[in-house]
Amino acid sequence: MNRRPSPIEAARRRHRLAEVAARTGIWISATAGSVTVRCPMPSHGHPDRTPSLRLFLDDDTWYCFGCSARAADVVQWVTQTESVDWRQAIQILDSGRLLSNAWAGTGDLPRLRRAGAKGGIDLPDLERTPPARIREVLDSTWAHCTTCPLHTRAVAYLAGRGIDVTVLESYTGRPEAGHTPHYGPTLARRLLSDGFSADQLIDAGLVHHHADGRITDFYAQRLLVPIRDQEGRLAGLVGRNTGDPRWPKYKNPPRTVVYDKSVDLYQPLPAARHPRGRVIIVEGTLDAMAIAVTAVAAGRPELVCPVTQSGRELSADQMRRVISMHGLPPVLAFDADEAGWDSTRRYRAAARLLGATVDVAMLPKGHDPASWLAEQGPRGLSALLPVPEPASQPGQISAPLVAGI
Ligand SMILES: [Zn+2]
Repeated sequence: MNRRPSPIEAARRRHRLAEVAARTGIWISATAGSVTVRCPMPSHGHPDRTPSLRLFLDDDTWYCFGCSARAADVVQWVTQTESVDWRQAIQILDSGRLLSNAWAGTGDLPRLRRAGAKGGIDLPDLERTPPARIREVLDSTWAHCTTCPLHTRAVAYLAGRGIDVTVLESYTGRPEAGHTPHYGPTLARRLLSDGFSADQLIDAGLVHHHADGRITDFYAQRLLVPIRDQEGRLAGLVGRNTGDPRWPKYKNPPRTVVYDKSVDLYQPLPAARHPRGRVIIVEGTLDAMAIAVTAVAAGRPELVCPVTQSGRELSADQMRRVISMHGLPPVLAFDADEAGWDSTRRYRAAARLLGATVDVAMLPKGHDPASWLAEQGPRGLSALLPVPEPASQPGQISAPLVAGI
């Protein structure tokens, strides 16, 4: 009865499907039953617009309605994502390294493709314009949108939300918010007169290109917040609607040659240097800015490093980076509502799969970090800085938990 398992059987026992999916950037909060996710396999041929790949968590098998011939296991997951044979797949599984998701960062494609089909929009071409030229377009945009009347408009809008961005700007020595033109030539016209071509504006993600050849601003009537890459270069802009309330509240940049939402984060302050400093993961760009402003105003910028992907999803790469930014576990400070608590549960599961822990900030129900700090001022920061437990067990969450989680 003591038959020795084959190498493949042994590998199946060592690696759970949920762990392998998490290493591919797909996180699942369920632990049993089945769940359907977007297919990460190159064999799928295109970004999976509606989830097609079902994970059977009880027996760690999976099947894609778009591209699978038959149900498969964790070893076959890796032979497909990495295009290797089963022996190499087992080595990769055991190495613990992240796995390729053929369609990571293409999450915006379906919406834009549909818009395009209605007569609308060219996506940035990732090969047509060199990255250095895209950075020049972005830098010019930022210069236009942060000069006097537009910068003043951004500062006034944020002040109305209880955020004094000039505090952050005196600390970093550069503009941290801008606004799109609200009279005179559009941004696109200004950039064309700077000598950039329409193709370059499309490739920088700054304009819509309509079927009739017109180009119009991608960000109109918006507060602009800079997303910088790990070298500090401007990579993209988050646009908060300040115009017609029927428009989407936030616009994130489309994928360009210098911006990938599965890689880049909004991080208004440098990594927290203090031994008790914390990385704080939030869902709103203005939440991150509010925390940064409050910490600088309180004279404690080295205590916090707020980050956001401008949404409630972090890729496996971003999660790894955030975890490695400080010796203490990152703090989750999502909105204190059902959606925020749901994200908190999923992040805790994801962190556990990466062998890490997270702490959870305790905000009163109905608050987000920005509204909380606008009400409480600097003393509100302590709610975002839970006291870490000295010796947590591996895999155990060392957090004062929000009620209900
Ligand atoms: Zn598929």
